[in-house]
Amino acid sequence: MTSSDDVLATPLQYLKGVGPRRAADFAHVGLVTVEDLLYRFPLRYEDRSRLQPIASLKAGQSASVTGRILSCHLRSTRRPGFKIFEALVGDPSGALRVTWLNQSFLRDVFAPGQHVVLFGPVEMRVGGLQLTNPQYEILDDEEGETIHTGRIVPVYEKTGSVTPKIQRKLVYAAVQRLPADLPDHLPEAIRARFDYPSRMAALVAAHFPPDGASLEALNQFATPAQQRLIFEEAFLFQTGVMARRRSAAAERKPMPVGVDDRIRESARRVLPFKLTPGQKQALKEIVDDLQRPQPMNRLLEGDVGAGKTIVALLAALVAMENGLQVAFMAPTEILAEQHFFNISQLLRTSRFRVALLTGATASARRREQLAEIEAGTIHLVVGTHALVQGDVRFKQLGLAVIDEQHRFGVLQRALLRAKGLHPDVLVMTATPIPRTLALTVYGDLDVSVIRDMPPGRLPIRTLAKPESRRDEVYQFVRAQLDAGRQAYVIYPLVEESDKVDLKAATEMADHLAQEIFPAYRVGLLHGRMKQDGKEHVMKAFAAGELHILVSTTVVEVGVDVPNASVMIVEHAERFGLSQLHQLRGRVGRDRHQSFCFLLYQAPLSDEARGRLKAMTDTTDGFEIADRDLALRGPGDFFGTRQAGVPTFRLVDLIRDRALLDLAQREAAQWFDRAAPTPAAVDRLLHGWEQRFKLIEVG
Ligand code: ADP
Ligand code: MG
Repeated sequence: MTSSDDVLATPLQYLKGVGPRRAADFAHVGLVTVEDLLYRFPLRYEDRSRLQPIASLKAGQSASVTGRILSCHLRSTRRPGFKIFEALVGDPSGALRVTWLNQSFLRDVFAPGQHVVLFGPVEMRVGGLQLTNPQYEILDDEEGETIHTGRIVPVYEKTGSVTPKIQRKLVYAAVQRLPADLPDHLPEAIRARFDYPSRMAALVAAHFPPDGASLEALNQFATPAQQRLIFEEAFLFQTGVMARRRSAAAERKPMPVGVDDRIRESARRVLPFKLTPGQKQALKEIVDDLQRPQPMNRLLEGDVGAGKTIVALLAALVAMENGLQVAFMAPTEILAEQHFFNISQLLRTSRFRVALLTGATASARRREQLAEIEAGTIHLVVGTHALVQGDVRFKQLGLAVIDEQHRFGVLQRALLRAKGLHPDVLVMTATPIPRTLALTVYGDLDVSVIRDMPPGRLPIRTLAKPESRRDEVYQFVRAQLDAGRQAYVIYPLVEESDKVDLKAATEMADHLAQEIFPAYRVGLLHGRMKQDGKEHVMKAFAAGELHILVSTTVVEVGVDVPNASVMIVEHAERFGLSQLHQLRGRVGRDRHQSFCFLLYQAPLSDEARGRLKAMTDTTDGFEIADRDLALRGPGDFFGTRQAGVPTFRLVDLIRDRALLDLAQREAAQWFDRAAPTPAAVDRLLHGWEQRFKLIEVG
């Protein structure tokens, strides 16, 4: 390790001014080393190079001023409990009143004599001009001029006890210590072609912009220094994707499959309906992959209800006809059971044997099944995602299907490889990825998309209603039940251990059964029920013995009861958009007109209102995904804990789309032209998967 690496690798706790408390606060947001600190852009930049003399301020503008606190106090108002903190701040040109509303704690922050920088709106009030609710920083007298004022300064997000000002000081100290020969990750040819500054210069300028830098460009993260650092991250990411693709292409599966008329006939025999054009196209792409010597890495994307299962099953059939075994994995036991049930039905006239292997399988039975899987007398195993872990040994695993997994399947693939298996892998998801992100997120997967729906489906009618109007909804549901349909009522359950919500769901089930729908049978399903209890309820609902299913979100993915035509979501304001879309997808699976009622508790936040509006505006999953992305921003789009979705330090998936594309082209060219040795690639990508959190570690 060179000394320059040492600087970047230094744990933050060894920086002067960072004690255990601040180190812990930093660690909490993922900042552990000096490198982490420097690869976190400021939230924004503030121009303090031209601080305005107080005497020159005008109402209606935002201004930065610096001066001393002349006096300050907390003042009560006529409104009970409403307090104003007021300060008089002076500079050589004059004095200005500054007020903060309802921030009583400022009493302990400010004191007369302090040197402060303030940034905020200037307003005209009865007593003259004033600055209202400004951002503030208190300066120490000896420092300041070079770091905190007299220049464009970086303003960081507050992290626990670390204020923007403390962080500015730490970053300043850190960039001072960067050696001039800091190694640069970017290939020199690329750096030169785009005229990017060196890594060292870029780090300095991104935090402490040189005189004359454009404030506007800085705040759009469009200066050469910022662009270079963003590009660097995108380039490393895309290079890793490319390397992964290349190593996958060099892999060989045990046996490519063949397709002939006998196999086509066998597929026709199990098919209960005609495939849609979208399904046919997806199947063709998959079967083409199966016939290649390299293992397939394909994502099958299709909106809820598009009919992905049958496509996967037909692919499974092709594998089995070639003497290979298939693992079919679902995210929950309920879904695994449902797949098992459907697949067993479809394959009942075939010679293939299907088994269900879940945590609920009794141990004697499990042992028998494991022996049969190892002997190859069981051809298709349905289970949860845990299927590839642990003690399951296949005789000849040819295809792994991973259902409802928006998480790349990276983990499963890694597990399979660790077992020395290189099967074809088909990952299925109903979470439409906005086109803008697909390339980045699924960079090393081939993608098939089913865009059409099975024939005869009517778009689901969706209505958002305040809870106070639930009687109308119940009346409507009764008419549907009278007509022979079934209904879901979904309760939000933030965590399965959330006892209060669980109680609410249980009480709701009782209330509906006894008071609202006494003539109908109501079932309750939640994640904390015993396995056989869940199974019993699900089967009864699927068989039409239960008319209403009150459930927590365990039914969210995949459950298929075509006769159900009403979905009621309680507290719809608490659900995310993609979750609402998934829930709605439980109905509208047959030729009946279906309905989705989103009951909400007023008042709604703007974001919740936006989500409900998106749901009532459209049933198109792709449009929902785009709206979701717009509402939440990419950081939240996939949820933070989703393994397999890259986490970037600097790249913003929306803002930096063009740079991501550019980086992808450059990475491909670099591989082709520079023909890097495997060792060079390894060096560049050292820790790549951990870095972008593409695998779950530990
Ligand atoms: P998803 O893509 O959400 O997993 P499923 O595979 O569960 O959807 O299919 C939804 C429903 O549509 C199932 O009841 C399935 O049998 C039915 N289905 C799928 N494809 C067709 C088709 N081509 N014609 C008619 N019904 C179909
Ligand atoms: Mg499904």
